[in-house]
Order: sequence, then structure tokens, then C-alpha cells
Amino acid sequence: MPRTDTVLADPRLAETVERLGRAVVKDAVVAAQQRVRQGEIEPEDVADAALAALPRHAAHLRPVINMTGVLIHTNLGRAPLSPAAVEAAAVAAGPVDVEFDLAAGVRARRGRTALAALADAVPAADDVHVVNNNAAALVLVATALAAGREIVISRGELVEIGDGFRIPDLLVSTGARLREVGTTNRTTLADYRAAVGPETGFVLKVHPSNFRIEGFTGSAGITELAGLGVPVVSDIGSGLLEREPLLPDEPDATTTLKAGAHLVTASADKLLGGPQAGLVLGRRDLVERCRRHPLARALRVGKVTLAALEATLRGPATPLHQALHADPRALLDRAQALADVLADSGIDARAVPAEATVGGGAAPGVRLPSAAVSLPERLAAPLRTGDPPVVGRVEGGRLLLDVRAVPADRDGDVARAVLAAGR
Ligand SMILES: *Cc1c(COP(=O)(O)O)cnc(C)c1O
Repeated sequence: MPRTDTVLADPRLAETVERLGRAVVKDAVVAAQQRVRQGEIEPEDVADAALAALPRHAAHLRPVINMTGVLIHTNLGRAPLSPAAVEAAAVAAGPVDVEFDLAAGVRARRGRTALAALADAVPAADDVHVVNNNAAALVLVATALAAGREIVISRGELVEIGDGFRIPDLLVSTGARLREVGTTNRTTLADYRAAVGPETGFVLKVHPSNFRIEGFTGSAGITELAGLGVPVVSDIGSGLLEREPLLPDEPDATTTLKAGAHLVTASADKLLGGPQAGLVLGRRDLVERCRRHPLARALRVGKVTLAALEATLRGPATPLHQALHADPRALLDRAQALADVLADSGIDARAVPAEATVGGGAAPGVRLPSAAVSLPERLAAPLRTGDPPVVGRVEGGRLLLDVRAVPADRDGDVARAVLAAGR
């Protein structure tokens, strides 16, 4: 067995140590030595095997092609960043003037250009603040405005956001008390009015972003609630800043603020199409109380996030926006072209119409006409573990690769991945 140090001295591996770090390369060498012991490879092939098995980056996260038909897939990292945001994030990786005034040579307001971009994007907000995610935004607002007091919330809006996390638990963890009003299906203005009093920190509206109830339902609107004399906070969830005609039932920050909400909280990595972050938008004094609260320091975002957020807000249309607005006819053409290439190589592939969803806790019930390449189900596993990994969905005994969430310039990669998986 060649010694680990001897293998690591191979010039090709020594070069990768510079790039990936010694630990990563050594792990690959040790794994290759193990393969020798198991009789899979010859001792003289250890360096080659280690090289072949090396990850491309020092981190183990792998870039995935999302063909699930779910545009915002939380397990796949939600919104893909635009090339402009990726570039801005890479620039911000080094020393940057995130908190420094280069002209004056003194400390400056952290993230001021990203905050200005957000303020420009939502003129209906007097002031804006950015934290780690929407859950952090809710925790900060609840702590700053209602710790030791009451948050008035409808029983129909006690939402679980996923992976076992529940908004009511999050709110109570801040030391605020929940004052539940109404019922699961109906809550009236009178219910809120009866509950509001000296103990009220604010009234909270939570958008039921990942479920729908139908039938005998009713809720009080923001405008009515804004007349109760206490702050009204609206968690809109998905981070639309303006109305999106394709998603008529999805609330947006501008409309919600204009309707009278005093604060809006939202995620930046859902329909806004940006990095993971939480937005707090609205009345200046309330935003200021959040920003000044000691907890704000624990929830602040990094410079890379600020850069990506600014580029998302100021830059070209995001990949998510393009996926949402893709023409179904063009999607079917792409699926057909892919299926043709694959069928020519003997793979059982055909283009089929499909339905995509927005996902990520946004626009529940909305179905977007889409198109997919239908393949034998047994290709699902090799595609997931291939390079690059392709994740589709299995339906009716077939693997469907939905093209809506995939930028058209990746179709060649998809074809190569399927051909490799089919071999
Ligand atoms: C997604 C969502 C959250 C949680 O947002 P994160 O950014 O994941 O923390 C909270 N409220 C609503 C209504 C949501 O849709």
C-alpha cells in the first residue's frame, strides 16, 4: 500500500491541496487506499482514484438541476440567484465598504446601498430593515414591539411553516403572549376589537402561504384592522414587492402597506428571487425600534447577503421571475427537443405537458402549465447521483423532468446527464 504522504506528494494532488485544502484531499486518498484493500483497484492507481474522486470545491454542496416542477424548492435552496447577484456576492467575499465611507474614511451605516435599493423598490415603506430570514424578522418584531405583552392573532393564521417550525411557537419564544381570536375558518373585525387593549403589542396577520381553506370562511382585512389604534403587522411570506398578475391571490408588500399595514415582514429568497434574508418594511418609528433593539445585532445579515440582495433588487430579472413567466409553448418545445435527442440515443423519452407549482410556501393551489420529459422511473436514482445531479419527480410510474425551473441554456447539461444515467 503506498503511504498517504507519498501519494499526497504526487504533483497533481499537491496542486489540489493548494486549491481544496489538505483535509479534503487526504480524505480522498484514504478512501482510495480503502478501495485497494477491498481489491477494487491496484495499489499504483491510488493517486488516480483519489484525483477522480475529489470534489470540485472545498465545500460539499453540489449544484443541482431542479426539474421537480417546484420553482421554489426549500430542500434545493429556494430561489436561485441571478448571475448579477452571484457576481455581487463574489465581489463582497473580499474586503468591501459594507460599513465604511471611503470618501470620508470613517464608519458608515452598514449595508446602506442594499437598504437604499430596498427602500427604492418599496416607496410605500417609510423605512426598511434586513435580517437573516423572515422567521428572524418575526422574532425581532415580536421582541421589539410585544415582549411581555400580547400579539393578537386569528386562530386561522396559526401556521406551521415547515420542518416542524410553527409561527406561534416562534412568537411565544420571544416572551410575547398570543391572544388568539376567532375560529379556524372565520375571524371578524369584532373578534379583534374585543381583544385589543392596553396589553396589545400589535395585531399580526399571517398569510396562509402553504395551504388554502375553502368554503365558509371569512377574515378581517388589513384596512379594517388598521383602524383599531394598535400597530398592524402583516407577514406576507413570499416577498413579492408589487402585485404579480400571474399570482392574483399572493399578497405583496406595496399593496399591503398601502392598505394600512404598519409593518410588513417577508422572505427574500422566495418570490423576490434573492438570497436568504428577512425584510422588515413600514412605519419609520416601528422599523427604528426593531433596528435599535439589541437582538437586531444577533439577526443581522452578512455582507455577501447584502450584496446579493442589492443586485437582486437593482439588477436584471431573476431566474425565478423568468421561470414564473416562461411561455408554456416554449417550454413544450424545449421538452420536445430534449426528448428527441434522448430518443435518438435509444432512451425511452417523450415530451409531456405538466403542471408546475410555485412552492416554497407561496401561491398554494396555483398550477402553472409546464412541460416535462417523461422517462423510465429507474433513471431517477442515477440522475440524482449523477454529475450534475438532476432531481425530477416520479408520477404514475414515470420520472418527469419538468423544464420550467431550468434556464434554457442548461438543456444541453440535462441531455448529457440523462444519457450518462441511461448507460
Ligand atoms: C416562508 C414563510 C415564513 C418563514 O420565512 P423564512 O424566510 O423561511 O424564515 C414565515 N411566514 C410565512 C407566511 C412564510 O410563507
